[in-house]
Amino acid sequence: MKAEEQIINQIGRKDFRLLFNDGELKERVKALAYEINRDFANSKTLKIIGVLKGSFIFIADLVRELKIPVHIEFITASSYSKMQSTGIVSIRENTFTTLQGKDVLIIEDIIDSGLTIKTLVDFIKEKGPNSLKVCALFMKPDKIKESICKIDYVGFHLKDEFVVGYGLDFDQRYRELPHVIELLNSEL
Ligand code: 5GP
Ligand code: MG
Repeated sequence: MKAEEQIINQIGRKDFRLLFNDGELKERVKALAYEINRDFANSKTLKIIGVLKGSFIFIADLVRELKIPVHIEFITASSYSKMQSTGIVSIRENTFTTLQGKDVLIIEDIIDSGLTIKTLVDFIKEKGPNSLKVCALFMKPDKIKESICKIDYVGFHLKDEFVVGYGLDFDQRYRELPHVIELLNSEL
């Protein structure tokens, strides 16, 4: 079955545009893992901090392509309500093992205004890591407001599109889709 048909059957709506199918996502994730393997080849143990919930599938796929030792932690950050950023980022820290002197890689699903990632980077920096890098599956370069932090690894650049699937939600829905689609209207 074609991806479009499968999505219509799964979510019961047709008002979407298929942006990246599962094969395209897999290929790009592999290429990102190649870069991370290369850049951290000499790191003792890379501390990965996954930003829940949107990045859970991306992280699961990415870490299985890594050839270096990693520890995985999660943090929860949210600023979105439905399709709109609230402008306030709340962070829920899980009990981290120490990040002091460690190489840390934050993994995000998507960077929109940059507010969330900036808040997270500032929060992690306080914990005294040896190095800190950021990996995001998606980024919307035209919408970035925060120029402060560099994004080291980016899967795909997007325009001003609201995307769901592959872990990303619209009001908690559609995370389970294996493909990434743009929702063409904001009705639930
Ligand atoms: P920022 O703080 O950069 O404006 O927003 C980042 C967060 O907003 C992301 O971690 C993600 O949870 C959510 N977000 C931004 N754009 C999208 C989008 O197109 N689709 C979905 N599902 N979430 C988004
Ligand atoms: Mg997020």
